[in-house]
Amino acid sequence: MLLVNPEHFLSLLMSTENTTQTVVVTGASSGIGQGIAIAFGKKGANVIVNYHSDEEGATHTLKQIEQAGGKGLVYQADVSKEEEVISMFDKTITTFGGLDVLINNAGIQKDSDFSHMTLDQWRKVIDTNLTGQFLCAREAIRHFEEKQNESSDKSIGNIIFISSVHDIIPWAGHVNYASSKGGILMLMKSLALEMAPKKIRINGISPGAIATDINDDVWKDEEKKKELLKLIPYKRIGQPEDIAKVAVWLASEESDYITGTTIYVDGGMTLYPGFVDNG
Ligand code: NAD
Repeated sequence: MLLVNPEHFLSLLMSTENTTQTVVVTGASSGIGQGIAIAFGKKGANVIVNYHSDEEGATHTLKQIEQAGGKGLVYQADVSKEEEVISMFDKTITTFGGLDVLINNAGIQKDSDFSHMTLDQWRKVIDTNLTGQFLCAREAIRHFEEKQNESSDKSIGNIIFISSVHDIIPWAGHVNYASSKGGILMLMKSLALEMAPKKIRINGISPGAIATDINDDVWKDEEKKKELLKLIPYKRIGQPEDIAKVAVWLASEESDYITGTTIYVDGGMTLYPGFVDNG
């Protein structure tokens, strides 16, 4: 019979306590990023609220973090620009003395049928969604590698890639977006393999339909919403908090043995919903 090691059990219990994490959340002025930043604030974290152009949204996020008991700062940076990303991570380290978690969240859509898709639409989406996540991950990894501790048995750093169900579900009329998210899936997995021996955990969260600005043309329109719900077996559109709770857990010691995994937070959207009463 396998006996429970009391020291291990005690350390598991202690792992549920709050420890102050320093967390960079990209694209945190709205939607899922805002929800995640506030959820970390509730855990007492130091949160770097990255934004691109919506300073008011970012300031609102920071206020909510502070009201919830966390600390933070707002930081303007375009995640697709190398120098801006490097400066953001430098600022994080000088202000809070380190980094524990990166939430790679910033993302955009520029939709078009394929034959009319411009090179600019293709590049903007790939630059933000894929290259942006690469640049931020690279800076986070550089920092994690500096705090490398050979004897550490637990994670010394966490990266969570916010991808999409469209990293596995093809999406007509959104080839640039689906390609960026498919790229994120292999970026995440390959990096997880490279970093696991260094006790750096890399995971993904792939949301289904979450009510935010990116898709408000759909969930604010009753007819389109009805059509969308046909693709969601759980029969509700998700909220940023649905993603935020998973992100906080996935960046905590509670999930220390998980790396290279994607959690689909999608109300069953990836379950081939057409088969519910068909086939
Ligand atoms: P959103 O539009 O509210 O948030 C996107 C954020 O990214 C915004 O704050 C925006 O300012 C920021 N951003 C855009 N370009 C940037 C840049 N170059 N540098 C820094 N920040 C930039 O939409 P959201 O739904 O909260 O999207 C967040 C992430 O979730 C995206 O990666 C998106 O692809 C993904 N996602 C969303 C859904 C959904 O249904 N809402 C589903 C699957 C995946």
